[in-house]
Amino acid sequence: MVLERIPILGVERVALAHCVGRVLAEDLIATESLPAFPASAVDGYAVRSADAGKPLRVVGESAAGRPFSGVVGPGTAVRILTGGVLPDGADCVVMVEDVRLEGEVVTTPGSLQSGSNFHRPGADVRAGERVLAAGSQLGAAELGLAAALGFPRLPVFRRPRVALMSTGDELVEVGGKPGRGQIVDSNRWALLAALREAGAEVRGLGIGPDETEPLRQLVVGVLPEVDVLVTSGGVSVGTHDLIKPLLESLGTVHVGRVKLKPGKPFTFATLPEGRLAFGLPGFPVSSLVTFEVFVRPALRKMQGFGQLHRPTLPVRLAYDARATADRTEYQRVTLRREGGEMAAVSTGSQSSSRLMSLAGAHALVRIPPGDQGIKAGTIVEAMILALP
Ligand code: AMP
Ligand code: MG
Repeated sequence: MVLERIPILGVERVALAHCVGRVLAEDLIATESLPAFPASAVDGYAVRSADAGKPLRVVGESAAGRPFSGVVGPGTAVRILTGGVLPDGADCVVMVEDVRLEGEVVTTPGSLQSGSNFHRPGADVRAGERVLAAGSQLGAAELGLAAALGFPRLPVFRRPRVALMSTGDELVEVGGKPGRGQIVDSNRWALLAALREAGAEVRGLGIGPDETEPLRQLVVGVLPEVDVLVTSGGVSVGTHDLIKPLLESLGTVHVGRVKLKPGKPFTFATLPEGRLAFGLPGFPVSSLVTFEVFVRPALRKMQGFGQLHRPTLPVRLAYDARATADRTEYQRVTLRREGGEMAAVSTGSQSSSRLMSLAGAHALVRIPPGDQGIKAGTIVEAMILALP
């Protein structure tokens, strides 16, 4: 239901330095070949293979960036350095280690293979070839390839601009001293990290109050500048839970509750002009798990990623996983290698307030609702957050 309503953001042309981690918006087609010229792969001598074994007069040099302008005729050779252009007339390069040099005369081995020791034009990339597909994420090799082909800028999908707000009158800023009944706002920092890792540009709104009108003003004020609103807290059914009514007044709430543990109060709404809102639960683990399950794939869709979900791997449960009767549960585990397979170990108490259950976790294991649970030793698909 969420992904169906997620738009893909527009395209912008961005300098290579700022493309790291971005998603290519169009196929990248090579406009020229690589290498563009026959380039020596070694230091040695450019010769005609027909002259194998003969003493050859060295008539010049072809260094990288400084080609030899003449022709290698019968009985001659040109000294060539790695990256130098293979001169006209020559059809192979002999490594310097394989020749005998006396003065300006070089003698090659008795048999030479035409085409050896240089890269043919177009051997790496042919002009017209699709080198990167739209939807590819740009990392080191992809950006190097784009630069080699002469593209100083690339068309990439825009990053989602996200306004992030914690709600709750019990919250104090980190570094401040919580009074009785107060707690530090930790969700904002956890979600800031999760959002950035997912490619978003984050506008921090700080702590929103549990009061209808000021909350509304905070949200309405920032909406024109962002694509997405992410809040934490204020979505349960308590009388101070104001996010859902606020989103209902601003747009359409499509999801107001999920059969998920942790994260039952997760809320998703669409707002006018293609904007989106995610009301995440207040409990720290609930907010991060619902971020993983619903928000991260949505942000990836907005950025044009082909792959929206975390990869999964089969793992062997090393503990008896108890199920919840009416809700799918995402349990947090660490993974360790046991022989040829991965064993999943519970991170301990799976309380939705216990961030220790998620800190250092490698994966989420999905336990279907019911009274069965999953017995230790069973192979399950784990959603991988990080490999050990
Ligand atoms: P709520 O959904 O607003 O009732 O929040 C549920 C519980 O989550 C609260 O009682 C807090 O213990 C916790 N909580 C809410 N917001 C935050 C936050 N920003 N940082 C840490 N814990 C929070
Ligand atoms: Mg609250």
